[in-house]
Amino acid sequence: MSFTTTILPTLKRMTEVDIKQGLKIVLNKIEVACSERNPELQAIQPTLVAVSKTKPVNLIVAAYEEGQRHFGENYVQELEEKANNPIILEKCKDIRWHFIGHLQSNKVNKILCLPNIYIIETVDSQKLAATLDKNWAKFKISDSKLRIMIQVNTSGEEEKNGVPPAEVTNVVKFVLNDCSNLELDGLMTIGKFGYDAADGPNPDFVCLKKCRDELCQELGIDWKDVGLSMGMSDDFEHAIDLGSTNVRVGSSIFGFRAKKTEIV
Ligand SMILES: *Cc1c(COP(=O)(O)O)cnc(C)c1O
Repeated sequence: MSFTTTILPTLKRMTEVDIKQGLKIVLNKIEVACSERNPELQAIQPTLVAVSKTKPVNLIVAAYEEGQRHFGENYVQELEEKANNPIILEKCKDIRWHFIGHLQSNKVNKILCLPNIYIIETVDSQKLAATLDKNWAKFKISDSKLRIMIQVNTSGEEEKNGVPPAEVTNVVKFVLNDCSNLELDGLMTIGKFGYDAADGPNPDFVCLKKCRDELCQELGIDWKDVGLSMGMSDDFEHAIDLGSTNVRVGSSIFGFRAKKTEIV
């Protein structure tokens, strides 16, 4: 598709050049945010997940060619199409897909069979963990484990998915003890939209970190071994300041998206 022949000249489409620029700016901001953190966090290098939902393949390739490796998608069908796209398969051999949307148990196999699936960040129940553990046996190569994160409903909003904070330790215990095909990478939250960091530390980020600290204490795990996926375009620097190890940034790299009404 050519972006030079847009029918509406006033509607600026993102180009490969814009993507490179957007990515550079975000990486720079991450670096600055990292350098300003509390010393005990200095050793952690947060992963940038470029959230490419609704965006075309050529823009993903452009970001990949700039060195970006981690990409996030949150619709099953869209990830299926992109992960199997011949251009992606040819040009992005080392791409690492993060699934960051709501995953229904009956769609698990559609994700597990995908080339270069790297992690499921949105495991929001013990039941889903059990299903992933059982089904990964069919797809794993040699003894590879499936990386997962437990999604936590830190804001307590009814429409949000995620394990309630009080149940996180139990779900983690289940994953560690009963899911030999899974590797726990950390905890993830989406949180409330529109929080203003001028009002102080974002309560969702504080809550996720507290869940992490509690489970580490209770289960005797080093906190550095449990990642925190938090922070999006509007607040990734703030999230890094509060200990994020994985930021999921979409519109600051790829430009505005047409809003989908689906709640994740
Ligand atoms: C869309 C999405 C993002 C990225 O949002 P931006 O505001 O565009 O950076 C991050 N995480 C999840 C779960 C998303 O669905």
